[in-house]
Amino acid sequence: MVVKSQWPKEEKEHEGSQLLLSACLSCDGCLSEEESLKISQQSLEEVERVLALNKKCDVSKHKVLVASVCPQSLPFFAVKFGLDITEAAHKLCAFLKSLGVQYVFDTTLAAGFSILESQKEFIQRFRRRHHDSNALPMFTSSCPGWIRYSERVLGSLVTPHICTARSPQQIMGCLVKDYFSKQQKLSPEKVYHVFVAPCFDKKLEAVREEFYNSLLETRDVDCVLTSGEIFYLMEQRKVSVEELDSVPLDHVLGETGGAALVRHEGRGSEGFLEHVFKHAAKELFGLDVHEITYKTLRNRDFQEVTLERDGETLLQFAAVYGFRNIQTLVHRMRKGRVPYQLVEVLSCPGGCLSGRGQAASDAEGRLDKALVQQMEEAYSSLPVRLPEVNPTLHTLYQDWLQGQDSPQAGTLLHTQYRSPIHTQPPHMQW
Ligand code: SF4
Repeated sequence: MVVKSQWPKEEKEHEGSQLLLSACLSCDGCLSEEESLKISQQSLEEVERVLALNKKCDVSKHKVLVASVCPQSLPFFAVKFGLDITEAAHKLCAFLKSLGVQYVFDTTLAAGFSILESQKEFIQRFRRRHHDSNALPMFTSSCPGWIRYSERVLGSLVTPHICTARSPQQIMGCLVKDYFSKQQKLSPEKVYHVFVAPCFDKKLEAVREEFYNSLLETRDVDCVLTSGEIFYLMEQRKVSVEELDSVPLDHVLGETGGAALVRHEGRGSEGFLEHVFKHAAKELFGLDVHEITYKTLRNRDFQEVTLERDGETLLQFAAVYGFRNIQTLVHRMRKGRVPYQLVEVLSCPGGCLSGRGQAASDAEGRLDKALVQQMEEAYSSLPVRLPEVNPTLHTLYQDWLQGQDSPQAGTLLHTQYRSPIHTQPPHMQW
């Protein structure tokens, strides 16, 4: 099979990585000139430039290329290649390595850190809820579209409530530039880190100043490419999937043997709500929750989960996806009527598998619903593994971060959110 792009018009607009209004959920009206410039460097052309430099004689300009692939991107390739998710990951790995990428990682490990740190922070916030009005509700922090909107438009109403755990992307950035580069005896700026993601908003996240090391002039994530952009590159190069080898993904710890793919609970977005809910039920109330039952409120993207004992509501969490539902949440927040202790907020309706960098069917960003359904099926075929029982995470907490509650863990696994910078962007529409 020769890879064929489904979005000829849209992909033309991908060239040069222009951010489209329809593609970026935060809306491109709020991009500063400096940000636009940085985003323009998050492109296929930039990766090709780095690859070309590696072929030149001047070794001082050579970089070790590392690619990290989101588990939300893998189902896209599985559907497009007509393969199961593991085999699709191996073909993708083979393609990336044929370009000159030396290491290809799956980012489930980084998501595991993000989940564990979110669980811990929720417990701390819950325990100080009576003397800290900003402690609850806690909003999840993995979606850069939501973070951008919170900082730019909502400000102090929301930012103190956002969990400080870094997103899986940015924890992967630290893992690669801090831990992995040291293991390889490389200075971080000698590593060029490409992140493959389902949406364009991740590009905005990668260029945030807190993830830039000005001394070494390097970012934790140098370039975000969407699944659609990688597929476009395969199409451009007339890649035949059958002719690609099957190459297992690499281990961050350097073990030999391919890394087995697993997923976290939930509908495809790492399941922050499920993990924190179960952890809090056990830690705060001594209750084991095995199955989570969602109650659909306004629609499938506004759901609620409660923990009750003897008629008393102990925990009440919500999953709120898509900007229309977020608007409802914000109205309630303004009126002080949010009953939830935690809200998993994602800006894409349907969650991360529906990211517009892979699930759009046209240049306007309309969803390809059949593709999303196939991706959901592919994703759910992976076995679930709780981050709590992942031995690699425990090893890294000790060897990399010097313990679970160390200052190192606080610095590398957490971040801060800024209060309002501008008023509402002119193009913001509901
Ligand atoms: S919900 Fe959408 S914008 Fe947010 S991280 Fe997931 S794919 Fe990206």
